[in-house]
Amino acid sequence: MELTAKEQPIQIPSEYNFAAEVDRYASAHPDKAALLIVEDSGESVTHTYGQLVNYANRIANAFTELGVTRGDTVMVLLPRGLEAYGTYLGLLKIGAIILPGSEMLRAKDIEYRIKHAGVKAVIAFPPLIPEINTVRSGCDSLRYCLVFGGADEAGWTDLNPLVDKASETFATVNTRADETAILSYTSGTTGGPKGVMHSYGWPYAHLAIAATQWLGVQESDLVWATAAPGWMKWIWSPFVSILGKGATAFVYSGRFSPTRYLKLLESFQISVLCATPTEYRMMAKVDKLEQYKLDRLRSACSAGEPLNREVIDTFRRAFNILVRDGYGQTESTLLIGTFLGMEARPGSMGRPSPLVKAAIIDEAGNPLPVGEVGDIAIDRSMIALFQGYLHDPERTARSYRGNWYVTGDQGRMDEDGYFWFEGRADDIIISSGYTIGPFEVEDALVKHPLVAEAAAVASPDPIRGHIVKAFVILKDGTTGTPELVYELQDHVKKLTAPYKYPRKIEFVDELPKTNSGKIRRIELRQKELDRS
Ligand code: ATP
Ligand code: MG
Repeated sequence: MELTAKEQPIQIPSEYNFAAEVDRYASAHPDKAALLIVEDSGESVTHTYGQLVNYANRIANAFTELGVTRGDTVMVLLPRGLEAYGTYLGLLKIGAIILPGSEMLRAKDIEYRIKHAGVKAVIAFPPLIPEINTVRSGCDSLRYCLVFGGADEAGWTDLNPLVDKASETFATVNTRADETAILSYTSGTTGGPKGVMHSYGWPYAHLAIAATQWLGVQESDLVWATAAPGWMKWIWSPFVSILGKGATAFVYSGRFSPTRYLKLLESFQISVLCATPTEYRMMAKVDKLEQYKLDRLRSACSAGEPLNREVIDTFRRAFNILVRDGYGQTESTLLIGTFLGMEARPGSMGRPSPLVKAAIIDEAGNPLPVGEVGDIAIDRSMIALFQGYLHDPERTARSYRGNWYVTGDQGRMDEDGYFWFEGRADDIIISSGYTIGPFEVEDALVKHPLVAEAAAVASPDPIRGHIVKAFVILKDGTTGTPELVYELQDHVKKLTAPYKYPRKIEFVDELPKTNSGKIRRIELRQKELDRS
């Protein structure tokens, strides 16, 4: 069945630059706090909108002086902090193309991106200088290697003195909405990373959908969106959704620990939280959760991977707050989710945004009836879809089927229009003719009190074609025994259709993950294939 989206009530203006949006807010409210930065040590510092825009203007002037201009591709490898915010805004101001990179990328990842995208300048976090030095000689397009502070290194320019002496005023370029603004590489969960291009108009759509309908950011909010720079997710929430609403971003530069996060949520009285399912899952396993008083928290969202029911129940019990799931991709914005005011159906991702027309389709591109599993697809006229994969028109073309953009994920829709995620098309397990989504098996396994994490994949089997095999990390101090294997299998059979239970279970200490923390089932699948 097909969902009819309402007429798209928003139209992206023909010229749009998100940095100009922030300029306008800052000139009306220069003293409003834009960033509240908290270090691992507990020290904190606030930057107002006026200060942030002045800083971004100086950065824009420094780039211009260096010769970095509109249309140039600039790779940014900075951790959470003022420099990242100032640099992203400064690059938008000059009309450049931002290539977000994580500070966790290594030499070969960096080299791949520089060569693939023809990167002209790199702005790096100082510890990355040696990594980049090992590959820079082979990167012909690379003209500038820039760093904030500490650049005694040959071939590197310290931006700080340039920024300090630059002017505080800058006229933000009036970009066309169809110019490329962002070149974001995907997580590489299913293979090599792909260069996804987004336009200057994209943040306009993202603000209308994700910031407004899902996170529900208001000007008075203190918002903690935990994603780190380098992925589209940072641009989604910590950058566009907060600054585009005049709210204050809570920026924690320390490391993740579930109790530390809970203490910060309490002591700073965060009002909106956007975190990953793994972060929620680990917080939900903390003892005496209700001792933390999260009185101001009114909106909590999760995206990036499936959200387990267990987490939703635990947060509801401890804090009386509904953790709302959201589904989207680097290639889009938020598409499907439990939007504000929508009744939640735990285990489902929610429904498409009123601005998105989504359906479950078959291989011929026809919408499937309620309850049938197929490809999750989005009407290709949707305003916030990507411009294409860089230098890969064939792959871009393959992601469309008739009028549909095909996400590469599978799911089903219920009679009320809620979407249920089954798994990435490549991760789906077919065993004795049954189609099994790994998420349901993993979700059941992590409900067991001794299980910390789990991943289910297809393992070749001479009789059944494939069987479900689960890789399981046990909670600290638990040893995996044959009895525990039976117990976990029994446990899954009670929670899902019995044919879905993992016929094989292997206890492991860790699971292969992407830099952004997603499980790479492709590696586990390969391992099983090699073993057979
Ligand atoms: P690659 O495309 O390189 O394999 P990736 O798809 O993991 O990497 P992203 O664009 O960061 O890169 O992630 C989008 C994918 O994450 C979605 O296609 C989906 O598989 C998964 N995902 C995102 N949000 C959710 C969610 N709420 N529930 C289930 N899965 C989700
Ligand atoms: Mg993908």
